[in-house]
Amino acid sequence: MSNSLFRQSFLIDSLYSDGALLSSEYTTDDGVLLKLHCPGVLEVIPPQLDEKTQHIVVSCAIHGKDAGPVELVNRIVSDIESGFQPVREHCLFIIAHLEALKHHTQFFDENLERLFDDKPRESSQELVIADNLKIFLKAFWKETSSENRWHFDLHSTLNPSSYHTFAISPKVRHTVRPKALVNFVELSHLDALVLANAPSSSFSWYTADCYSARSLAIALGQSSRLGQSLLDRFNAFDITLRDLCAREPNEHLPRKTKFYRVSRTIVRMNDDFDFIFSDEVENFTAFVHGEVFGHDGDKPLMAKNEGEAILFPDKYVSVGEQAALMVCPVTVRYEQDQLVYD
Ligand SMILES: [Zn+2]
Repeated sequence: MSNSLFRQSFLIDSLYSDGALLSSEYTTDDGVLLKLHCPGVLEVIPPQLDEKTQHIVVSCAIHGKDAGPVELVNRIVSDIESGFQPVREHCLFIIAHLEALKHHTQFFDENLERLFDDKPRESSQELVIADNLKIFLKAFWKETSSENRWHFDLHSTLNPSSYHTFAISPKVRHTVRPKALVNFVELSHLDALVLANAPSSSFSWYTADCYSARSLAIALGQSSRLGQSLLDRFNAFDITLRDLCAREPNEHLPRKTKFYRVSRTIVRMNDDFDFIFSDEVENFTAFVHGEVFGHDGDKPLMAKNEGEAILFPDKYVSVGEQAALMVCPVTVRYEQDQLVYD
């Protein structure tokens, strides 16, 4: 029996496997079983599983420029493999788009983050990945209780952000915004939590909608190349995630997050479309009520609420696609353990 699962690491072996089958299972001295299902998909099974076990999915590299989160995940997996990081919950670590990561491009044919609904689509490199991930999730969460399912989908942002780290909670019919999830956000010192107002086709929306998982898309800093990420800026998130997987009490203090609701999605309707700010505008840049920040055909784009702020602006999208999200600060409260706003 070999004394490790990876020749170099989860990341490097997955990137350069060239389809060759790697050794697929390894048990640490503490009895934690690591199962490599395919390059980029690693299941970690603790020695004891029962009805209290949490089933946690941590995914990254939905986009090829999300290198920081990939390195963070790779470091956690290395520490699990060496036995340094204890694991008492059932975990699935995913590095999704290995080819895009290798080429430092967001995607090749289509944005993978928009492919997790069930609409019929033409085949693409990204659609194959989305379909595969759906199969692994189904097996991973089979016969588990929905309150014990978590999903953290880790990203970077292309634009700089007023908030270095933030999370987006998808909008679904199920109760997926419990206080425990907000506690996780605040222990992770994420600067903002954005509450989506409509279904989407993102990976975190899919897991919340199909599996009632406590799902978040989490942006950790700006995009970078492998080896050039500033991981120490995400220490609180790193520690909180490790504590969750290890079922260990948190020894650091939480920090209050700022809550936003999505007020609307700006969809490009015309070829003649532009924002008046530069392409490098910061996410969460806020406008005063009535301020014009662009146009779509004859129609001015203007802030409809005081303090309405822009998220993920991209004026180069095709007609019919999302060019930005608009968000507003919001006061929240809890109703039957679920986060709500009025
Ligand atoms: Zn991303």
